[in-house]
Amino acid sequence: MRFALLGSGSEGNALVVQTGRTGVLLDCGFSLSATVARLSRLGLSPESLNGIVVTHEHGDHISGVAKLARRFSIPVWLSHGTLRAQSAAFAGLAVTEIDTHSAFAIGEVEVQPYPVPHDAGEPVQFVFGDGAKRLGVLTDAGHATPHIEAILGGCDALVLECNHDAGMLAGGDYPYHLKQRVGGRFGHLSNDDAAALLRRLDSRRLQHIVAAHLSRKNNLPELAVRALCGALGCVADWIAVATQDEGLDWREMA
Ligand SMILES: [Zn+2]
Ligand SMILES: [Zn+2]
Repeated sequence: MRFALLGSGSEGNALVVQTGRTGVLLDCGFSLSATVARLSRLGLSPESLNGIVVTHEHGDHISGVAKLARRFSIPVWLSHGTLRAQSAAFAGLAVTEIDTHSAFAIGEVEVQPYPVPHDAGEPVQFVFGDGAKRLGVLTDAGHATPHIEAILGGCDALVLECNHDAGMLAGGDYPYHLKQRVGGRFGHLSNDDAAALLRRLDSRRLQHIVAAHLSRKNNLPELAVRALCGALGCVADWIAVATQDEGLDWREMA
């Protein structure tokens, strides 16, 4: 199994998982042309995707999903609450409503959704597996729950939200209500939140750790890296940072 990010941040997110002959896209917050260009940068065509799974209805995750699904006839999996929030865009498409606690398969990829606290209709995040390895993804969560800890423990790779540095958010120029939203219980994980979660996880199998969904205004890559290094007691080089423009190149889970 391997994975890559097409881009990560509040201006658009997408991640691709591949195993055997199956390709699964997680979210798509990019235009059709940008998605095709970003896939081709990774050596992929849209036709190689067997499914799209969606975390929630915020534009940076869903804005490109229906167009991509319609143009290339790709089936979509999302929660009832996410679909309700975007029902017009998905009319006539091959859509499966997921049980947010039940695993399902897309070709050779096992997909385990799990609910997260975030200000959306019925938000989920996912763990992907191939029977041997597990990739856990967590972005867009206001805080870590015991269920999140249980699900993400023992993963071989983690993509973990490091949205903001708490000090930069507090001292920055966001209006008060936005600071409250981003830093609140249904907002986004800070660097320190991500590090605290990582400390509590069983990380013995971890091969890859990727800091994701960094705010351009309220964070710096080196602050996210420092927080995650502190949690794992590892060297900085070992932590990858997914960026808005470049995403992250393929990572093999051997
Ligand atoms: Zn987001
Ligand atoms: Zn969101």
